[in-house]
This record gives sequence, structure tokens and C-alpha cells, in this order.
Amino acid sequence: MSMPDAMPLPGVGEERKQAKEIEDGEKYSFMATVTKAPKKQIQFADDMQEFTKFPTKTGRRSLSRSISQSSTDSYSSAASYTDSSDDEVSPREKQQTNSKGSSNFCVKNIKQAEFGRREIEIAEQDMSALISLRKRAQGEKPLAGAKIVGCTHITAQTAVLIETLCALGAQCRWSACNIYSTQNEVAAALAEAGVAVFAWKGESEDDFWWCIDRCVNMDGWQANMILDDGGDLTHWVYKKYPNVFKKIRGIVEESVTGVHRLYQLSKAGKLCVPAMNVNDSVTKQKFDNLYCCRESILDGLKRTTDVMFGGKQVVVCGYGEVGKGCCAALKALGAIVYITEIDPICALQACMDGFRVVKLNEVIRQVDVVITCTGNKNVVTREHLDRMKNSCIVCNMGHSNTEIDVTSLRTPELTWERVRSQVDHVIWPDGKRVVLLAEGRLLNLSCSTVPTFVLSITATTQALALIELYNAPEGRYKQDVYLLPKKMDEYVASLHLPSFDAHLTELTDDQAKYLGLNKNGPFKPNYYRY
Ligand code: NAD
Repeated sequence: MSMPDAMPLPGVGEERKQAKEIEDGEKYSFMATVTKAPKKQIQFADDMQEFTKFPTKTGRRSLSRSISQSSTDSYSSAASYTDSSDDEVSPREKQQTNSKGSSNFCVKNIKQAEFGRREIEIAEQDMSALISLRKRAQGEKPLAGAKIVGCTHITAQTAVLIETLCALGAQCRWSACNIYSTQNEVAAALAEAGVAVFAWKGESEDDFWWCIDRCVNMDGWQANMILDDGGDLTHWVYKKYPNVFKKIRGIVEESVTGVHRLYQLSKAGKLCVPAMNVNDSVTKQKFDNLYCCRESILDGLKRTTDVMFGGKQVVVCGYGEVGKGCCAALKALGAIVYITEIDPICALQACMDGFRVVKLNEVIRQVDVVITCTGNKNVVTREHLDRMKNSCIVCNMGHSNTEIDVTSLRTPELTWERVRSQVDHVIWPDGKRVVLLAEGRLLNLSCSTVPTFVLSITATTQALALIELYNAPEGRYKQDVYLLPKKMDEYVASLHLPSFDAHLTELTDDQAKYLGLNKNGPFKPNYYRY
């Protein structure tokens, strides 16, 4: 199978510049669908009390690459209970049917469905916002007629999203956006439930594109919505089936990488449908990036190294959302934390939060742990690695595995010793060892689990972005990349408040008038930064 050409990434600044938001005053089709339509099924702010009843994610893509870095980064290995002793026959060679006689799927082993169902049920416990969306849409379904082709990690949490989309009326065909991240048992459970899923853990690159192709290229079924994570699916459709875009109402993209590609397409005048940039929605960026990393950085480090943090000297490169989350967790355990930053604003924030802002060179000889969170490349170079002290732990929390120059460590004078899964000791000729985690890939996604609740927030944002784009009247969204309307961001947050039994204060009429706000939101202007 010939591979598609990959596209270069534009700068992040460009992304922000081009981002558009629908004016706050506009009526959103989602709002019309779920709150203003006479037969409303999903309530907006009004029903929030009802919720109290419920318990409480590249290397810069070079032109020669054909699959995104994130697609080959290992992911959530600790979270998957997939049995590695599965037979080695490729799922593509197997004839499998589910209990209803359908063979419209390709998974590792359909017999694992029951086990996968339990995993999905466990995830549902902490994804009550999606479950409540399902309940609210039992009558009129905001995604009725939607044919969604999706490409995301296939885990218990994304299964809850996929099944929510089905419950809202959509038909779904799904593949994995990462060749290692699929929980085979979960894919089996989805196939058993009737979702056309094409994914297994450990796909080859050829399998990866084959699975995407099977989702898109289906006689008698044509997608009208795309949900992508990383941009590979979107890229495949552009490359192989451009006519499909005649029917596509919109693309929802979650990842930094995929969003960059969309802006690139838009800039080149080649984006032919509206696209929603979920990555930069407040409820994604301020929760997934910050809290997910605050919760998982210690877990990833502990599971791999058993390190004690109290009194340890740690340098965190980048004090953005991810860096802030990591630093908060490390500080709470008594680590001495240094920050490196290029941006004076973030550097000042770090100072005000009580961290020393330094150049990496100034502390590299003394620190016990180095963590990169910049989204940049070559932040930790071979020179830095040469100067680290014995037993220094080095890891990355950013999206790409280029933040640490791991390639520079693959030289004859250095010995690599795999001491545990995802843990390598790189040994210098004088005996010095550097402890490299996950070969410089995302630490938390490679070596620990990520909190389901945070994934619920992102998944709810994706679901609402799909509903909005699918129901938008013609002309509301042009062939461009949009941020989620503020009011929907607020709605995603409100759906998650009942888990904490949080009670929002309501504006009085007088207060609303004083602040010039609608009592039901949006509560902040688009430029508010939280
Ligand atoms: P951000 O833009 O908010 O923060 C990155 C920071 O790094 C910025 O403040 C920037 O000024 C700084 N920086 C850039 N180059 C630098 C350099 N050479 N030295 C020091 N600082 C530098 O982005 P973010 O939301 O914090 O995300 C950072 C990375 O983490 C991205 O690649 C993102 O995709 C990824 N991410 C990871 C997870 C996860 O679960 N591990 C979750 C979300 C995002």
C-alpha cells in the first residue's frame, strides 16, 4: 500500500492567529438542538441539579514520514490488560463473527468481549457526563443520521465516547490512531456491541493504514463526520477519497499535531469542510494538559523507578500547562524544582509560584530528574546528557519524542541496558548511568494510567463538537478551523460539576445587568484566559 505524503507543521502562533470563535451572542445549533428545540432532550444549565443523582493526549512530521509520531508512540501500556500471549496470527487473516453473526470488524480476538465490557463499565463510573448525555438524548437524538468515521486511541474511555455517540443516534466506524494503544479486549467489546471497529494492539504500519481504509472505504456507507486524533484519518481521506468530503459536514480534531495540520490545510486554501479544534478548547487544555499531568507524572516516575521525591532536585523544562501540572505535584512531595523557560511570562509565573528559573546548563550537573514539557525539540541535548550525574532520570511529558535527543545516545561508546519495561540505563564508558524512561516518549501515556475523569472532560468536548458541527445550519461554519463556542465549553464543565456535588451560584437579574451578562452564560469573553 502506498503511503500518503505527510505535511509539515506550521508554528503554534499561527494556530492561535487563525483560530476563530463564533460570537458569543450567536445561537448555537447545539443549543437549539438540546435546549431551545421544543422537544429538548439534553438540557443545558437548567438540569444541573439532576446530575447530582449520579455517582460520582510527534516528532515534527518530516515530509518523508507517512505516519504520525504519535501513531507509533507506545501508549497506556500499563493501562491495558491485553494478554500478550495472544496467538500471533494477524487479525487480518482471521474469520471472526460476533454473537449476532456480524463480521463487520477486525479485532485481535472477539472472545475477549466480555472482559472488555467490564473494562468499559469501570470507565463509565468516572465518565458520568457522557452517561448523562446519553440519558438526555433518549428521545430525539442529536446525532441521528450522523455517520462518524473515527480514529482515536481505542481504550475503555474512548469506548464510552463511541458508545455515547451511538446512543445519540450516530453510526460509527472506528480505527486506532496509535499502533500500540488499543486495548484488544475493549475493541472486542465494541465489535460485539455492533461497532465496526478495525484495530488491535501492535499493528504494523501497513495494518494501520489498512484499518483506516476499511473504516472509510465501505460499499453502501459514506461518512458525513470525522473524529480524528492526530490527523492521520483526515490525511488519508484527503489523499485517497477526496470525494468523501462532498458529504462531510465537519471534522473534529483533538491533538496538537492534527490541529496544526488542519491550520496548514486552511492556510493553503485546501480545507474544504469546517473543522473544530478541540485541543484548544478551555475544557481540554486547562484540564487534560494541566490536571492529567499533575495526576500522572508521579505515577509514571514511581512505576518505572521507585524514586522518592522528597528533597530530590528536579528540573522541569517548560512552564506551560503540562509543566505547571508536573511542578505542582513534585512540589507537593517536597522536591526542589527548577524551571527552564523561553517565555518571560511563563518564567515570571514560575517565579511567583516559588520556583527557581534557570538555564538547563546551570543545574544539569546537580539534578536528580530532568523532565521536558515544551512541545519543542532538542531541549535536552547530548551535551546535557553527557554532563548529567550518575543515576539522573530523564523523561518527557510533551507530545513528541524529539524533546530529548535520544538519537544522539545511540552511539558505539554508550551501552544500553533494558532494566525494566520502558526503562533503559544508558551507560557511559566511565560507568555513569543515565536512566532514560520510555525512550523519550510521553512518560505518562507510556508508563502509567491517565485519569478517566479527565478523559471524560475531553471526550464530552469531542461529543459536543460533533453535535454542534453536525447540527449547524448551513453557513454558520465555513471552510475553516474553529474553536468550540465558549458556551459549550462552559456546558462541558457544568456536566462534570455534579461529580463533586458542586453548587454554582446564580447571577441575580441585577448582577447580570451590572456585568452585562446573560444569566445562562457565556460568563467570560472569548479572550479571557482562565
Ligand atoms: P504550552 O505551550 O502551554 O507550554 C509549553 C511551554 O514550553 C511554553 O511555555 C514554552 O514557552 C516553553 N518552551 C518552549 N521551548 C522551550 C525550551 N526550549 N526551553 C524551555 N521552555 C520552552 O504547552 P502545554 O499545553 O504545556 O503542552 C506541552 C506539550 O505537552 C505539548 O507537546 C503537548 O502536546 C503535550 N501534552 C502532553 C500531555 C500528557 O498527558 N503528557 C497532555 C497534554 C499535552
